[in-house]
Parts: sequence; structure tokens; C-alpha cells
Amino acid sequence: MTRYIDVNDLSHLVARKGLLQCLSEMAEYIREDYLRWQDFEKCARLANHSPEGVIELMPVSDASLYAFKYVNGHPKNTQSGMLTVMAFGALGDVDTGKPVLLSEMTLTTAIRTAATSALAARYMARANSRSMALIGNGSQSEFQALAFHTLLGINEIRLYDIDPQATRKLADNLALFPAIKVVIADSVVEAVRGADIVTTVTADKAYATILTADMIEPGMHLNAVGGDCPGKTELHRDIVDSARVFVEYEPQSRIEGEIQQMPADSPVTEFWRVVNGEVAARESDQDVTLFDSVGFALEDYSALRYVLDVARALDIGSEIELVPDLQNPKDLFARLQPQVAAPQKKRA
Ligand code: NAD
Repeated sequence: MTRYIDVNDLSHLVARKGLLQCLSEMAEYIREDYLRWQDFEKCARLANHSPEGVIELMPVSDASLYAFKYVNGHPKNTQSGMLTVMAFGALGDVDTGKPVLLSEMTLTTAIRTAATSALAARYMARANSRSMALIGNGSQSEFQALAFHTLLGINEIRLYDIDPQATRKLADNLALFPAIKVVIADSVVEAVRGADIVTTVTADKAYATILTADMIEPGMHLNAVGGDCPGKTELHRDIVDSARVFVEYEPQSRIEGEIQQMPADSPVTEFWRVVNGEVAARESDQDVTLFDSVGFALEDYSALRYVLDVARALDIGSEIELVPDLQNPKDLFARLQPQVAAPQKKRA
């Protein structure tokens, strides 16, 4: 049987654990897997593009588990009442190919993306960082704010979105966390001025320039989350050109990240090298660091591994017969309904 986690189950799981604990624990699972980067068989995700968006398949495996995620990105979806990003995924047993988990991954992706962002910032941002500008206040934004609050101690968040209702929604949701001071800014410039960290998590299928070089101050850490597709970026290339740039998996980020604007040999460092202590993310408090995040399958592997462990421990979700459970594994035919398998008697 296969463990099945739908949106209600995942919501229940997060309620039982607490969202802040889920963010911290998932970040630790992600860190553990980045530490053993060489154990994974990796590839850039497979993307099917259409005029309004993209649908992507993200596979990865190690010696014991295979993971994949189906995820879309359709920035105009919210205009017709749908999410921009929706996802589901699975874990399979490498020895037998049997699926062990089928799970919702829309909420899970928001948690894993925020956990990854904050984990990266723990290595890249200045140690005394306390404030963050959050540009783009849609579905991912609460998760980003709370991950940075929990993992880094960010206690002031400055919000900006071209849609004031999105900003109001984010401010209202963050009001549940009184330790976070929320400041609503009138412009990107106002939100970014003096911030230790800047997170961009906007959705637009365009070469956008949410941040320009004149907004960037020495020592800032930039967490660029929304540019994650060919032709979809958020930063002016001058910023990318002058920052210390970190990516998840270079072959995928060259196609999808902010670095798609750069020559193919522009200097970048893969994040796993930083986690492993091979490369220091910053040499001084004056360096500008950029985590050019596009989302990598390894983070989904970690997230699914976490969901499965917690679901088993707390007995959440259901067991479904996703693939046939047979008494005789050579008799698949027997698993059909008897009336379907049996030849129909002809009427006289
Ligand atoms: P969403 O549609 O819910 O929110 C996006 C917000 O960006 C909207 O409120 C919109 O008004 C705002 N926006 C658009 N253009 C803007 C601009 N010029 N200035 C300020 N705000 C602007 O989308 P979401 O689910 O929150 O996702 C946000 C982005 O993050 C998407 O582009 C998505 O593809 C990306 N994403 C990346 C990862 C990753 O791992 N890197 C994971 C998940 C989502």
C-alpha cells in the first residue's frame, strides 16, 4: 500500500507539529541531503512551456528513494481564482520501484522553498541580520517571512507588492506573530532601504527588474525566489554581475535563474559546497551575496522524506492501493473486476 497525503492531511500535519517547527525541521532535512550531494542522481527539471506558464517534472534519486514533483507556474492564474503554483509528488522505493508516498505538494512546496531560502541565508547573510524586505506578497510570502523569523531571528519585515490587497493580506496573517514587526512600504525602494536581507518572490512571466543596482547596499543578502524560468527574472543583470552568486544546481540555474542573463561561464558557486564548508559564502560584511534560487528536486526529496516520517509518526493520511496488491504477482488479470474479466454471455 502507498501512504496518501492530501491537502487536508498536510494541513493537519502542520497543525499537529506547528508551522515554525515544520520550517525548522524541514530545513534540517534539506541540509542533511545537501551534505550528501554526491549520493544523488541529478538532472535539470523537464519543463513544458506554454504562453501563460509552465508545467515541470522534477526527478531525483539516491540509492534508496526516488522522488518526483509535478509543479506548475502560471502567474495569471490568480486573476481567475487559482493559485500561481500548484504541485503534487511521490516517493518510490528504488529497490522495487514501489511508490511509498503520494502527496500534495502545494503547501509542502511553500514550506520547503521558505526553509531552503532561510537555510541558505543562514550561511550567506550577515550574522547580525534583523530586517528583511519582502517584495511580492502572494502565496509564498507568509512562509518566507516565518522561515526567516524562525531560522535567522529576523524580526522586522518590510512589505511591498504592486497589489495593495496582497500586502494587506500578508500583514494581517503576520499579525498572528506579534514578535514580528511589520512595516508596509510604498515602493520597492522604501522597502529595501537599510534592510539586511531582500527577498524577491514576485510572479510575472517577464524579464522584470524588481531590483536595480542603485537599491543595493554593501553587505546585503539577496534571496531571489521568483525568477525561475527562461524569460522570467527579477534582478537587473548589474546586480548579478557584481554579487557573490550561489545557485542550487548549476545546469538548471543557467537555464532558469537570474544567471540566464549572464555569460555561460559567469562565476557561480553551488550551494552544497557552502553547506559542506568548502566555500565561505561571504568574506566580509561588505559583500553582497545572492541566492539565485529556482527550486531544485533535492529539496522536494527532503520535503517528501520529512512528510513521510512525520505522517508515519503521527499516523496521518491514508493507505491507498495506488498500484495493485496481488496474491500472485504474475496474475495482474485477476485484479480486474470479475464481471470485467469474465467473458459476457451472449443473449440467446
Ligand atoms: P503569487 O501569484 O501568489 O504571488 C506573486 C505576487 O507578486 C503577487 O501578489 C503579485 O501582485 C506580485 N508581483 C508581481 N509583479 C510584481 C512587481 N513588479 N513588484 C511587486 N510585486 C509584484 O505567487 P507565489 O505562489 O507567491 O509565487 C511567487 C513566485 O515564486 C513565482 O514566480 C513562483 O514561480 C516562484 N516560486 C519559486 C520557488 C523556488 O523554489 N525558487 C518555489 C515556489 C514559487
